[in-house]
Amino acid sequence: MVLADLGKRINSAVSEVTKANVVDQTAVDGLLKEISNALIEADVNVKLVLNLRKKLKSTIEQEEKPGVNKKKLIQKAVFDELCDLVDCKETELYKPKKKKTNVIMFVGLQGAGKTTTCTKLAVYYQRRGFKVGMVCADTFRAGAFDQLKQNATKAKIPYYGSYTEADPVKVASDGVEKFKKEKFEIIIVDTSGRHRQESELFAEMIQIGEAVQPNQTIMVLDASIGQAAESQSRAFKESSNFGAIILTKMDGHAKGGGAISAVAATHTPIAFIGTGEHINDLESFTPRQFVSKLLG
Ligand code: GDP
Repeated sequence: MVLADLGKRINSAVSEVTKANVVDQTAVDGLLKEISNALIEADVNVKLVLNLRKKLKSTIEQEEKPGVNKKKLIQKAVFDELCDLVDCKETELYKPKKKKTNVIMFVGLQGAGKTTTCTKLAVYYQRRGFKVGMVCADTFRAGAFDQLKQNATKAKIPYYGSYTEADPVKVASDGVEKFKKEKFEIIIVDTSGRHRQESELFAEMIQIGEAVQPNQTIMVLDASIGQAAESQSRAFKESSNFGAIILTKMDGHAKGGGAISAVAATHTPIAFIGTGEHINDLESFTPRQFVSKLLG
């Protein structure tokens, strides 16, 4: 089930129960079951769903007192639990500082939308008055530098890369060095998303990370890959210890649930969501806003 349908289904389950004359235990149980099924069909991890169901049930039972409007209580409890599902309270998002160098390194599998998202984020910060540059540290894929160059040129963002240097660590550190000297405030480093072996990809990420010492590492995750999002982000977390996630392709037919589970599995907040191929299709993510929109 795609995300938009998930919202509709939860919404209609809640309205059905709140429209009923008496909201008894059977009605509440039916609601809990319907919400759980909808979340599981949207690829949210089963354990997370069971946990949500338990918490929702106990909130409704505990807060139900004479004088409390049960229908309102149910609406609020469902909203709060959904927020909790996408809200990572353990880690605070990094906020770039003006008049300082903020190095942001991107990691993620090829095709996730990394290069596109680097440019989107660069534009986002440029509009907010930061001096932004982009570095292409993907020397593995032929054409990676050209793609970044094209995107950067279109968006009028200064960029750095090399057609001849094969060592991504050298390109990354040279690029960061150059932009640092020129007092750039945000330096975005795009890395490779594919290698002959996965272990080589992770080893390369660690080396680039050591060389450029990012203030923030962001994992770009394709929201349409379903359950695989969880194991993929766990593997990246171990090697790159990213501090934020950007979910891409939230437009279209993303189920999104797998990606939501990735937040819980890696204890890492979602910073932005990508909602299209265009440079402006990036929205900053706040759990309450996201859930409000989901429920329509
Ligand atoms: P990379 O290999 O991770 O660098 O991925 P790219 O940036 O080359 O993106 C792969 C494809 O996904 C391209 O066709 C992008 O236009 C597309 N893409 C990236 N982000 C989004 C998004 O938020 N929504 C949609 N619909 N497409 C996206």
